[in-house]
Amino acid sequence: MLTDYHLHLRPDDVQASADEWFTSTNAERYRAVADAHGIAELGVSEHVYRFTQALELWQHPLWREFARDDLDAYCAFVREQTDLRLGIEADFIPGAEDRIANLLQARDFDYVVGSVHFLRDGAVDMDDYTVWDGSRSPEDVWRRYFETIAETARSGLFDIIAHPDLVKYWGDPERRPEGDLRRYYEPAVEGIAEAGLAVEVSTAGLRKPAGELYPARGFLELCVQARIPVALSSDAHRPEEVGADYDRALELLAELGITELCVFDGGTRRLEPIAAGERARGQER
Ligand SMILES: [Zn+2]
Ligand SMILES: [Zn+2]
Repeated sequence: MLTDYHLHLRPDDVQASADEWFTSTNAERYRAVADAHGIAELGVSEHVYRFTQALELWQHPLWREFARDDLDAYCAFVREQTDLRLGIEADFIPGAEDRIANLLQARDFDYVVGSVHFLRDGAVDMDDYTVWDGSRSPEDVWRRYFETIAETARSGLFDIIAHPDLVKYWGDPERRPEGDLRRYYEPAVEGIAEAGLAVEVSTAGLRKPAGELYPARGFLELCVQARIPVALSSDAHRPEEVGADYDRALELLAELGITELCVFDGGTRRLEPIAAGERARGQER
């Protein structure tokens, strides 16, 4: 069974309002593209920072700018007006664990996608508030990034670790340490394995300056050795991105001997095999 669990129903710009995009018609557009790609399981995971309740977790200026919608209205919309699984993409904010737990546990998410976009106040994947201001070496940023991924996993707040090597976003050699990168990956993989989370394989990296799947093959190889299950996603922000480049992802999964994907239902996880036909269909495109 193919899945796409990391979907956003709107672009990331602040003007993209809930009123305009959280509609059954828009959700049906995502479903139609998924059907065309043979993707049976679809879930939406809107960014937590677009909801006013997120300001109880963090008061970063970017969050203050974006926090406009009501989280409970989003949950009700997904449950009542769509046939999508209900998820959320929640940032791990060190020190806010109890407040994150309260926010998440008060709602009946099918799954929670945990992500790291910021190291303290600095973003790894944005021009604004960037961590890449020259004050830290790439080695330092990468080490802290993957240590934070481990901390995210161990927090027990999440089901899936999103885009696990987002730190490579810019694809800029000056923002990437030299040599074998496994020394950075290892603590993250250890944390994910110990905490029993799923790791996301995301095609979004192919649409970003890095031009690679998240995570890198070397990272995923360590996940396979540690028997970490995989959740497959596109991180689409528009219908035409649903299942984008799944041929590339399915090819990598096949090469590494990954034959099953995580399926989530009401907070429980099971594994479903990737059928031969699904694999072939992905590779035809
Ligand atoms: Zn993200
Ligand atoms: Zn996302």
